[in-house]
Amino acid sequence: MTVVPGQKGTAGVGEVPDPAMQDGALLVRGRAVGVCGTDREIAEGTYGTPPSGEESLIVGHESLGEVVEAPAGSGFAPGDLIAGIVRRPDPMPCPACAAGEWDMCRTDSFGERGIVCLHGYGSERWRVEPDFAVPIPSGLADLGVLLEPASVLAKAWDQVDQISQRAFFLRGRALVTGAGPIGLMACLLGVQRSYEMHVVDLAQAGRKRDLVEDLGARYHGGDAADIDTDVDVVIECTGLGAVGRSAARRLASGGIMCLTGIMNLSPTLDVDATALNRNMVLRNQVLFGTVNAGRRHWEQAAEALAAADPRWLGGLITRRVPLTSWTEALDRHPEDIKVVVDLTA
Ligand code: BGC
Repeated sequence: MTVVPGQKGTAGVGEVPDPAMQDGALLVRGRAVGVCGTDREIAEGTYGTPPSGEESLIVGHESLGEVVEAPAGSGFAPGDLIAGIVRRPDPMPCPACAAGEWDMCRTDSFGERGIVCLHGYGSERWRVEPDFAVPIPSGLADLGVLLEPASVLAKAWDQVDQISQRAFFLRGRALVTGAGPIGLMACLLGVQRSYEMHVVDLAQAGRKRDLVEDLGARYHGGDAADIDTDVDVVIECTGLGAVGRSAARRLASGGIMCLTGIMNLSPTLDVDATALNRNMVLRNQVLFGTVNAGRRHWEQAAEALAAADPRWLGGLITRRVPLTSWTEALDRHPEDIKVVVDLTA
């Protein structure tokens, strides 16, 4: 699965050399990769960087593969299902990377497999370092392809949990904006934490609503500002400024709002900084952003997926395309939630 970053229309299938030993001691047979908005941005030419000295980038950062070769003592064996962690520390580690928290890198010189300066997992064979491989809990099998998006939400919720320790906090209601894969995963993790979960999305009915209601959460079609309750937590998963602004109106005093969606550079959204200040200061609110995930979040995500209903998780995967026509995964179909590329087909 190759793209020339910066050049729209270059996504395709390419013959690439065998994965280099320097990529890691585990040799892996790729099973599947999930496709997300980041891959679409790379294919549109607006994001992504190839490895130094190369023109094209192997994409695919939501991985699932089967170990083919593992050195003794690596903790892995042939046949194990794994996902590869996305981010790598910067080469001259900053204090955060040196502390093993590369998801909090301070220099922005990190690499990301399939996104920034490092080839991804969208190939029939790939390699990964044992320290950057995460075992897929038995029982999940092909649903393990959901581990990467789940890790991003595990980090988001982990930070909400930590921020909520600052003072009295009511673990009451939480609102998720957007019922795509990220929003649905945010809802699952909120339900697992015993929040009363609410999800708002533009769609009025359909599979998204069913998936939310199957979790015992409440689905609201339309605008977040219109929902009939205030919430203690907002997890913004659309990257749409107007949606985030509406959701912020429902945040209770002492509430925590987490931004996971990335807004487009244009059109820009005007924010009333005075209103923002008055809410945050006079109502003790916290607004924070989060990206990527550290090793512990991948492990938390693995636990969360293992505890979820596999039929529900399976319902998130709405379309599978073979490697040979993987670019069809970039198209958006109305009923799509998560589209997965089958690397074995
Ligand atoms: C990935 C993250 C990554 C981010 C920014 C997301 O799609 O899930 O791992 O850090 O893009 O590159």
